[in-house]
Formats: sequence, C-alpha cells, structure tokens
Amino acid sequence: MLNEFVYCRRLFFYEWVDGLFAHSADTLDGAHRHERHDRKEDELLPPDEAERIHARSVTLSSDTHGLIAKLDLIEGDGAAATPVDYKRGSPKDTEAGPEAWPADRMQLVAQALVLREHGYEVKDAVAYYYETKQRVRVAIDDDIVGEAVAALAEARAIAALGRIPSPLVDSPKCPRCSLVGICLPDETRRAMGLEPLAPESQVSLFGVDTELAGDRPLDSSSIGPEIRQLFAARDDLRPLYITGFGLTVGKSDDVLQVRDKKQLVQEVRMHDISQVNVFGAVTVTGPALQSLCWAEKPVAHFTSGGWFAGMTSGMGLKNVFLRIAQVRQADDPRFTLAFAREAVATKIRNQRTLLQRNHVEPSRAVLARLKALADDTPHVTSLESLLGVEGTAARLYFEGFAGMLKPEGDDELPSFEFGHRNRRPPRDPVNALLSFAYALLTKDLTIVCHAVGFDPFIGFYHQPRFGRPALALDLMEGFRPLIADSAVLSVVNTRMVTTKDFIHAGRAVTLTASGRKALLRAYEQRMDNLVTHPLFGYRVSYRRVLELQARLLARVVTGELPRYPGFETR
Ligand code: SF4
Repeated sequence: MLNEFVYCRRLFFYEWVDGLFAHSADTLDGAHRHERHDRKEDELLPPDEAERIHARSVTLSSDTHGLIAKLDLIEGDGAAATPVDYKRGSPKDTEAGPEAWPADRMQLVAQALVLREHGYEVKDAVAYYYETKQRVRVAIDDDIVGEAVAALAEARAIAALGRIPSPLVDSPKCPRCSLVGICLPDETRRAMGLEPLAPESQVSLFGVDTELAGDRPLDSSSIGPEIRQLFAARDDLRPLYITGFGLTVGKSDDVLQVRDKKQLVQEVRMHDISQVNVFGAVTVTGPALQSLCWAEKPVAHFTSGGWFAGMTSGMGLKNVFLRIAQVRQADDPRFTLAFAREAVATKIRNQRTLLQRNHVEPSRAVLARLKALADDTPHVTSLESLLGVEGTAARLYFEGFAGMLKPEGDDELPSFEFGHRNRRPPRDPVNALLSFAYALLTKDLTIVCHAVGFDPFIGFYHQPRFGRPALALDLMEGFRPLIADSAVLSVVNTRMVTTKDFIHAGRAVTLTASGRKALLRAYEQRMDNLVTHPLFGYRVSYRRVLELQARLLARVVTGELPRYPGFETR
C-alpha cells in the first residue's frame, strides 16, 4: 500500500480503495519471482529466543500503524534484524552510487516498523535488485520513519475522502504502470480540460453543472499538446465463438477443448481468449465454466436464433463506488437528460456519416435533416422528446439503408430487399442480419460495462426494464451504425452472405449456420479495424474504443470529468 502510494497516489486509490488490479509484464514477472521465493515460509523466533536469524516469507502486522507486511527475508542476530526485500529491475543510479527508489524505501520502512513492533531492533533495511544483483541498504532513522508515518496518514485521508487523485502529468512512471489502460492518464487530462464545443463540431460534448461535476472547474491548461498512446492499439486476446449444434466445451489443464460427441474438433489456450460465446445447444462443462470464471473470461449465451440470452462471469470487480455513483446519477434527471442528448446526437451524426459514405446517391435533403436533428438535441428538454427525435432520425436513416446495399459481382444472384427496420422477429434477411449484429454489440458492451465496474442494467437513457442491459444499450447508440450496420453492409456487399443463407419460418427469418459464421467474421473484422479517436488523435481498434468510451463515462459518473465526449467519425 505505502509503495503504491509513494509511486502514484492515483494508483494507490485504484488498488486500495477501488480494489482494481491488473497485471503488466513487470508485475507478472515480480509475482512469478515472489511465488518461487514464497514456496518456503520460515518461522521467526521471538527476539529473546533468536540467535542467528534467516527467515523467509514471514507475514507480520503492526496494530500501532495499521500495517500488514509480508517480508521476503529477515536477517540478523539476536534482537537485531534487517528486512530484505527482493525487487525486480535495478536501483536508482545516483552520483553517490546505487540508491533504493522512493517507493521501495517506503516499503522497507513499513517492514522495519512491523519488526520493531514485534520487539526487534531495526537500524537498516535492504532492497535486493534482481537485474543488477545488488543489495542497497536504507538507514531506518527518525526522518524516514516520520516520512512513512506522514505518507500513511495522507493515504488514509485520501481513502476516506473517496475522491480519486488526478493522474500524473506526462510522467515516465505511467508507461510502466500496470493500470495505465484503466487510468488513461493523458486521455483523462485531455478530457478534463475540454471547453464546450459548438454543436456542429466533430466531437460533441454534454455539459453538466459544476455541482454535478464535483465542483471541479474546467482546467484548459491541462490540455497537453500530445496524448501518449500508452497501451496497445488492439487487444491480443480473441473472442471464441462456438456455433455447432450439440458441441461440448470442456477443458484439459489450461486448454479449452471443443468436442463433437467424442471427437475433438478444436483446442484453444485459455490465455489466448477474451470471452467465449456459445450458440444454441452447446454444452459448457462445469470444470470449464469454473476455470473461465476464475480467469475472468465471460461466457455469453445466445439462442440458436442469435438472441443474446445472458452471461456467466466470475465475481467481477470489487469497485462498488462506481456503481453507487451510477445509481445516484441514474436518478438525477439533469444527468440522464444530458447523457441522453449526447447519445442521441452521436448516433444521428454517425448514421448520417454512414449514409454519406456508402449510399449510392445520398439525398442532400435527408443529410441536412439528420444534421439539423443532431444539432437540435441540446435544446430538447425531456427524454420522451429525445425518443421522438431519435425515432425521426431512425426512420430517415433506414429509408436510405437500401441505397447502401450494393452487392459486388454476380448479377445473377438475387439481391437483398430492405424496406424498413423490423424485429422480434425480423421478417427479412437484412433485418435478420441487423438484429444479430445488434445482439453481438449488446453482448460486447455488457461485457465492457462489467469490466469497467458498471452495472449494465442501470442506464441513463434506456430506462430500467427486467432483463434489459440498459447501460450497454445507452453506450451502444453511437456505435450501432459504425460497427453493427457496417458489418451488415460488409457481408451483403462483399457477398459473404447471399439470400441462400437464411431460413424462412412463417413470418420470421433467421440466419443459417454458414450465414451466422459469415456475419461473425465481418463483425470481428470490424471490431478489429483501427480508427482514429477524434479526441485523442491516436488509432485504436473499435473493440478498444468501446472500452475507452465506457471508462470516460465512468469518469463523468464519478464527477472526475465534467463532460462525456461521444465518439463520432468523420
Ligand atoms: S498510469 Fe500514471 S497516473 Fe495512472 S495510476 Fe499509473 S502511474 Fe498513476
């Protein structure tokens, strides 16, 4: 706790107040080294019984300072003890010679304090750095103890206040921080300093008053000239889709095995996947499900018709503070209206962009009308009126949707017809594709909500309804055209599906297994596409954008950011 606090107060807050933790290459390596070291736990004899001390992996606590410390090694003679802490990396290089880093020094003081409370005399402590194989000694004098006690008091005060400290500014610590993808230091600072933009600007914003935003004034000076992209543009982990009838997903060690009766048809390492999606009559065995829960890899369940039925996931995040704030804001009409205006304006602008880019002959009148509807949203005064605006825009957009269906190649194949949007059940092939694509997007945003710490069922625009992931649907508005509709246009226009890939049953139309696989491929390709973030200027995959936007919304909900920037493309 103390070393995280000294490294970065925000990191301390995430780990010790919000209960968030993520591994980086550094922390994984450190954990691995400690695991090997911790295999042997020694007994530490009381000071009056000890002669020569050499005790490994000892856990001690201090009631006086409210500390618990796990000590890698304690060396000493009789009552004189020296804690030794093993560190990945190298010491700080100074003119006077190698020095322990400030965060490491504080950790050693904490260890010295617990040892002193148990009756040992501790004059110094040692940090051992693996990379340079050097021992660096730290004197435990009154000054450094005073520093540690003051840091402890400050850490407790910050935790009690419950307000996350601001991110570090352009700090070299951030690229090495395991929580950089959650913290988004540069992005948060950029969004903190945003001025309101004119409605026609590319990045639209909604404003909330300062009381609602936690009394934080806009800080334009914190807008840096450049945002460092401190995390990968794409996720290396892939979703796994299991669509075959009667398949069983089991596991052997860390490998998921998909079997058709007894025949092994696919093996996937659990480390390589981000989620598992099962369709219809697919069985996931108890041991496989349990391992996926432990590994925090959600399992999404779909009906054979592609309806998103639910999810199985692990115990999830401990971050209850975000959920408390979410419930509070969902009850505040000013907040919900502000968010809904932004969500609807973003959706309409993205629909307009899609028509402009893809329609064979985009109607200027429709484009102008969509622009006017989006620009008017800041003046709409109720959620009901916004629903009307959204409905009008949707009608105009879907009236033009058929003009974006331009299958390449073979003119002999029957073409797709599209009149208007219909669902439950979809009554033509294009609507069947759209419904399935929206189900996939709902699933992904439900997973993102869980990952960020939101309750996906408490929305701001979509009102609570039994079994409806309202917040996932809120976040989804602007992405419907950009991800789901684009994937549908792609499968139709590149002939990845033809009219033969559908089953007609009464008035309902569903996809065949091959049609569904084609859409899954197009959807994943779209999610993997790199796109320039309009606010941060770097390129990231759509899958990453979904998480980025959800994290920005979380900052708005907790009052750290005054405005939510909707995601719009040119
Ligand atoms: S990314 Fe930087 S600001 Fe954020 S928690 Fe880590 S060190 Fe602190």
